[in-house]
Amino acid sequence: MKVIKKSEQVQNIIKKLKQQKKSIGFVPTMGALHQGHISLIRRARKENDIVAVSIFVNPAQFGPNEDLKKYPRPFEKDVGICKSEGVDVIFAPSPKEMYPENYLTYITVEKLSDIMCGKFRHGHFRGVATIVAKLFNIVQPDRAYFGLKDFQQSVIVKKMVTDLNFPVKIISSPIVREKDGLALSSRNVYLSFTERKNALSLSRSLQTAKNLIKYKNIKSAEKIISEMRKIISPKVDKIDYIDIHDAETLEEIKYIKKKVVIAVAVIVGKTRLIDNIIVKR
Ligand code: AMP
Repeated sequence: MKVIKKSEQVQNIIKKLKQQKKSIGFVPTMGALHQGHISLIRRARKENDIVAVSIFVNPAQFGPNEDLKKYPRPFEKDVGICKSEGVDVIFAPSPKEMYPENYLTYITVEKLSDIMCGKFRHGHFRGVATIVAKLFNIVQPDRAYFGLKDFQQSVIVKKMVTDLNFPVKIISSPIVREKDGLALSSRNVYLSFTERKNALSLSRSLQTAKNLIKYKNIKSAEKIISEMRKIISPKVDKIDYIDIHDAETLEEIKYIKKKVVIAVAVIVGKTRLIDNIIVKR
């Protein structure tokens, strides 16, 4: 396994691999790897000759008052995990390598970046789209793997790839959860014992919403959201949003007819948590 910090070096290696007709699977991450990331790496390992993982805490997707500085960076542990999962290449650039002085180019996927998390994290998806585009140009993957934990992110990346003709297939993979339902996240390490218990209200409310739609035949988004709010509200410090959107277009919907994504974002203590569920009627 190679651990590389320079873009040009990755591009040279990839060029050689492409000449040998090797397929390349790519898993972009911010490190602090857990079973969610590992599920993506395993799928990439199964479906490609070469697996590349990037580990980069991308400053461009953090707001000024967010957790960029304290975001966990257990680099050596991550390297060990990648090694034992059969990763071929880790790309771990410095911020300067990705955004040298006088860096000026950003990508915005319009509309989709302004709703849901975009309403509360201004510029977040501009940072995501920009880094993903840069990483695609460096790693040139045939397939790239994203978790449905960040549902809006996966829709935005797919849109960018279509609109900008990137020759890569985007593969979305299910959310990996703890046994008690908590969606795995690198940010879960911030949670105290009580906060972690309270965070379970997210997955519980999503499961309730699914049951209301599937078994109680409730179609009104307003009604479902209000039931979810009752579960979440006493357990968290702030609800950023509880939203129901068309799962393909991310259009907000009033009545549930087709496949929808029910998504929540909250603050527990000082930690922002997101979760979602896809429900088909
Ligand atoms: P991150 O390191 O948080 O930027 O995440 C890197 C990739 O892992 C993204 O595509 C995430 O959606 C995915 N991911 C994070 N947590 C999970 C999870 N619990 N289940 C599945 N995928 C996840």
